[in-house]
Amino acid sequence: MKIAILPGDGIGTEIMAEAVKVLAVLDLKFETETALVGGAAYEAHGHPLPDSTLNLAKAADAVLFGAVGDWKYDKLERQFRPEQAILGLRKHLGLFANFRPAICYEQLTHASSLKPELVAGLDILIIRELTGDIYFGQPRGRRVAIDGHFPGAEEAFDTMRYSKPEIERIAHVAFQAARRRNKKVTSVDKANVLETFQFWKDVVTEVHAQYPDVALEHMYVDNAAMQLVKAPKAFDVVVTGNMFGDILSDEAAMLTGSIGMLPSASLDKSNKGLYEPSHGSAPDIAGQGVANPLATILSAAMMLRYTLNQPEAADRIESAVKAVLSAGLRTGDIWSEGTQRVGTRAMGDAVLAALSGKTITTTTTG
Ligand code: NAD
Repeated sequence: MKIAILPGDGIGTEIMAEAVKVLAVLDLKFETETALVGGAAYEAHGHPLPDSTLNLAKAADAVLFGAVGDWKYDKLERQFRPEQAILGLRKHLGLFANFRPAICYEQLTHASSLKPELVAGLDILIIRELTGDIYFGQPRGRRVAIDGHFPGAEEAFDTMRYSKPEIERIAHVAFQAARRRNKKVTSVDKANVLETFQFWKDVVTEVHAQYPDVALEHMYVDNAAMQLVKAPKAFDVVVTGNMFGDILSDEAAMLTGSIGMLPSASLDKSNKGLYEPSHGSAPDIAGQGVANPLATILSAAMMLRYTLNQPEAADRIESAVKAVLSAGLRTGDIWSEGTQRVGTRAMGDAVLAALSGKTITTTTTG
């Protein structure tokens, strides 16, 4: 087994170092190879996803990705911006199913902006379709309007579209994931306004016939956004398109208090995947050694579970993370009165200590 390690930019390199330490201590048989991606790759090779990095990602069994981006690249032509590397990897690796769990650890309920009773024990899974929708639909561009409210004015346009096989495959993924959980899928659409999402709803309903043991409900995206903050625990698996999933998965992430705690996976049809924290490169705290590495460490656990077939090792990492939280260690993003503030490296060391069954102590702050 080979894992491609792509740390990226900003805090990406800091948090990845901790995840790599954790993987190394598990004593499992796999090779790792590291490559540049994002802004770091643009600086070195003139492209955010150079061929060498893409070829490594294709050849590997799984990719562990840190984060990319920095405001200093915002003025680059779109194709050279660091974020294009993520889109390129998704496209070239055929990653179409994005898993974004939103789990609220008992020890962190106070970090949520919602009342503790609404989020305590929250464990939901948002599954976002990644390759279609308005983000990729053609045609798109700018032109002079020939009709609409202001004919002759400059306008921009994108195209929302989904084919039946695209909807079918993500629906299967969602129903199968629900079978391993609480057997309920909420399909989120905007069927009342959009043709594309009436079609989405029809196809999901058709696929559901093959999963009579799983409950299916349909919900409009505006209602889903409200229900996520009103009664989030009523959801189990949420499946939706690329744009709605982008927005709702960030909203769900915030229910848990910190984006620094949340892993994610993007899978292809044979469960090969790219695993990454749900957050970005956090240029505001990069280089300070204060970023929370737990989302990346938990992403490594997801990788062991979904792609590398090592569920016991994944369980061990997840238990070690809970032990560290129970011991009161917190990075700045999840810190609260009465807990001990630690930096990135100390948090990684504490997970290592928990994995080796040692007492978790640290005096490192920062
Ligand atoms: P961000 O997720 O990087 O940061 C948002 C806020 O959360 C910041 O205040 C940051 O300090 C904090 N934060 C994020 N991760 C943290 C962690 N592990 N520990 C502690 N605090 C953490 O989002 P942003 O500021 O909107 O974007 C910054 C850059 O990241 C941009 O260039 C953006 O395009 C890029 N980005 C990349 C990805 C990715 O690589 N997958 C995802 C989102 C954004």
